[in-house]
Amino acid sequence: MNMTIKQTILKFSPNFVVREYLKFKSRWRMRGYEGYDVECPVCESTFRIFASAGNPLRENAKCMKCDLAERGRLMWLYMNKKTDLFKCNSKIKLLHFAPEKIFYEKFSNPQHIE
Ligand SMILES: [Zn+2]
Repeated sequence: MNMTIKQTILKFSPNFVVREYLKFKSRWRMRGYEGYDVECPVCESTFRIFASAGNPLRENAKCMKCDLAERGRLMWLYMNKKTDLFKCNSKIKLLHFAPEKIFYEKFSNPQHIE
């Protein structure tokens, strides 16, 4: 098993050091995107512009916080505005294959979604 120097350091570092490193890395990654021009409807974060993503590269595509691109944000808006998924009180069974992490968190919260 070949581990990079970075992987080796992270593996043998105390958890609080790894957590601080990940926080720093996240803040470092978001530098230059701070602003209020665009808002992600899913995580409600605002940025100057969304990050580029995809192949071929699409500009202004990906949220830097939740990593959702246009399709995921559109899906979220559709589910909130055109369905009663989050408004109804009766139990709903929802099947979502390989949900994005943020969707998994959002779907896990309401008590009526199984
Ligand atoms: Zn987001």
